[in-house]
Amino acid sequence: MKAIDCGRRAAPEPSAPRGLVFDIKRYAIHDGPGIRTTIYLKGCPLECAWCHNPEGQLGVPEIIFWTGRCIQCGACLEVCPEDGDLDAAHCRRCGRCVQICPAGAREMAGRWMGVREVMAEIGQDRVFYDSSAGGVTFSGGEPLQQPEFLAALLRACQEEEIHTAVDTCGFAAPSAFDQVSPDTDLFLYDLKLMDDAAHRHYTGVSNRLILENLRRLAHRGAAVTVRVPVIPGISDDAGNLDAIGRFVASLGAVNQVDLLPYHRMAADKYGRLHRKYRIPATEPPSTERMEQLAEGLRQWGIAVTIGG
Ligand code: SF4
Ligand code: SF4
Repeated sequence: MKAIDCGRRAAPEPSAPRGLVFDIKRYAIHDGPGIRTTIYLKGCPLECAWCHNPEGQLGVPEIIFWTGRCIQCGACLEVCPEDGDLDAAHCRRCGRCVQICPAGAREMAGRWMGVREVMAEIGQDRVFYDSSAGGVTFSGGEPLQQPEFLAALLRACQEEEIHTAVDTCGFAAPSAFDQVSPDTDLFLYDLKLMDDAAHRHYTGVSNRLILENLRRLAHRGAAVTVRVPVIPGISDDAGNLDAIGRFVASLGAVNQVDLLPYHRMAADKYGRLHRKYRIPATEPPSTERMEQLAEGLRQWGIAVTIGG
């Protein structure tokens, strides 16, 4: 995935909300049914230790630095208003270093966009949605951190009869779910850890609101696929999966779970953001282990897919 740089902006849309987008992925096949365009909104209330989109966590634009591309020309230091202090904590997010860098070593993750601008991007992929029963997925970060912008985008998609999915961590105000639910065809809803203390430790927040919001969605009959990241040594024990199975089965209306195997592909991103990857190096779960966990969940009468 390539982060969006801070390019020229489209004509302003005075009445429509604007939002912070950090990536747009085309031809996505793991973010809901069919071929999809995934729009990544920046900002997340969680800080999961294994997060594979750390550039989506902060609700502000931020600089990504590719050390290997840097040719040490010093141009960025000359234009930086922080007197060459490129440390992320002092960065004003002015983007001057991005514009001046001749090597593409600096990118700005996060760009303010209007609804019309995002819809223009989505419109380019329309033919793929029609041929594959696909659509658009809003992910992040946590898309419900920008409820007005998200609601406006969902409404615009529905007006064009485009299938919509919202990929959420579930930690959002119930009113935000109320706002977006009428125009959301499918929720991709993360459940990570059922033990609240473990959830706090690895994500920074309690899971209570997450579970309560999922109950509310299920009660209303919303279409929901639960997604469980399988992180070795953290979320992959039989007790956690069994508790998830019991909870999902109790919802009645939700009967699809995707198990998402851990991968380390995002680990390098942390260094580019001047952050530490908090979990120790570990191998992805084996195919046999994933099948074993899926089989355990199926005992609860749940349809399980590995990979999503
Ligand atoms: S975005 Fe601006 S303040 Fe931040 S490092 Fe680049 S030039 Fe300096
Ligand atoms: S402008 Fe780019 S290539 Fe030059 S020193 Fe800065 S990051 Fe490196």
